[in-house]
Amino acid sequence: MSVTGSVNDEIADTVGGLRATFATGLTGPVEWRKRQLKALRRLLIDHEDVFAEALRADLAKGATESHVMELGYLVREIDHTLRHLDRWLRPARSAVPLSLMPSRASTVYEPLGTVLVISPWNYPMNLALAPVIGALAAGNCVVLKPSEVAPTTSAALAEWLPRVLDDRAVAVIEGGVPETTALLAQKFDHIFYTGNGVVGRIVMAAAAKHLTPVTLELGGKSPALVEPGADLATAARRIVWGKFMNAGQTCVAPDYVLAVGRAADDIQPHLVDAIRQMYTAEPKTSKDYGRIINQHHFDRLAPLLDDGRIVIGGQSDRSDKYIAPTVLADVDPDSRVMGEEIFGPILPIVRVPDLDAAIAFITARDKPLALYAFVASEQSKRRVTRETSSGGLTFGVPTAQLGVQGIPFGGVGASGMGRYHGLYSIDTFSHQKSILDKPLRPDTMRLTYPPFTRGKNRILRRLT
Ligand code: NAD
Repeated sequence: MSVTGSVNDEIADTVGGLRATFATGLTGPVEWRKRQLKALRRLLIDHEDVFAEALRADLAKGATESHVMELGYLVREIDHTLRHLDRWLRPARSAVPLSLMPSRASTVYEPLGTVLVISPWNYPMNLALAPVIGALAAGNCVVLKPSEVAPTTSAALAEWLPRVLDDRAVAVIEGGVPETTALLAQKFDHIFYTGNGVVGRIVMAAAAKHLTPVTLELGGKSPALVEPGADLATAARRIVWGKFMNAGQTCVAPDYVLAVGRAADDIQPHLVDAIRQMYTAEPKTSKDYGRIINQHHFDRLAPLLDDGRIVIGGQSDRSDKYIAPTVLADVDPDSRVMGEEIFGPILPIVRVPDLDAAIAFITARDKPLALYAFVASEQSKRRVTRETSSGGLTFGVPTAQLGVQGIPFGGVGASGMGRYHGLYSIDTFSHQKSILDKPLRPDTMRLTYPPFTRGKNRILRRLT
């Protein structure tokens, strides 16, 4: 949609149109929902090249990474949803207490109405469309506001979605702060926001005016806890893989290595080897290594390269928005690089003396979106599970939790609220309505009506 003249009026018209559509019941039938998902699936498969090209233009993403992390991922999410949707939507029966018999109790999923999805730039296809898949599967009308920071992908979404999805029920509104602000002034039935916590607070404050529920998928510093005795070569390879894909611009990337004792030294050569193996000695020329999204983020990241002893990397080129995969050792927990989420290809190693100190380090800070642990024993696993809180906890492999469709994805505390993927998206984008159906005859409620005789009193106390 091109925004000319009064941004507010155009946006109000679009949202009003979707609300009117929802009121007609168009989006309710499961067949309509499935048609939308299948059309989206076809688009992603038939025009993968269009979107892969957009991702390359915005983030220099390689085609394989784009497939695995974005386009193929979305197809899998659609397939999973199509496979299970009928079952998920089946009313769930519940037992009723003796005092209410005979009657039937059940819970049904009811679409919320018109929902707003605001997505970020780092996985600009995945994080825009994965919530849209859930919102449509749950029977809602949707406004998608892609990130203006990934402009080619945003334009591709605005061009292609209306061609394949029912434009009476789905709208893409491109733009930045003015457009999002105008959108947030509208009344929605749910707002699903992915991005940073500062804007998350703006979204939540705007939603509060209409009592609109929100899902906030935020970020934070996700640690990779490494214990001596773990297989450090494998741990290093997997940490490097999770950290440096998309040049570190992944919400669930390991933000830093929290190394117990000598693991802080022992893991360094393995990290160096892994970076060389995956991106060669000259990562700048690797077709699999991405770039920083823009100069603003480059300028935010470049000074962080000074916050520790460089083990590998450290090179940067502003004109190419390139920062080499970098590992920093001897990092002070109070340094800048440890202050904020890094969201770039810089991996600090912080040393702690033992597992107690590692757990204390984690719990003293904001609850992370993800906690990765490479530990040496089942006892350590149990301790980390019991004694820390994070959006997700993954042993042995970072970021891969996203590939498991049966588990929820979301943050806790500062890393967000709410969750999605698969059935959890249906939960997020539906109202779970309770239904109690009690026949009028016979009137077994008589016992509960006043006046309360001694006999009624005795029976009621036994039944309730
Ligand atoms: P971004 O700059 O693209 O912003 C996200 C969205 O907010 C965009 O659509 C943008 O237009 C909108 N926006 C920006 N400023 C606004 C304002 N003042 N008012 C209203 N809307 C506004 O992306 P970002 O925030 O830089 O994304 C990076 C952050 O997102 C990181 O913290 C990362 O960890 C987090 N993230 C979280 C997840 C997750 O799933 N939990 C996924 C990706 C990124």
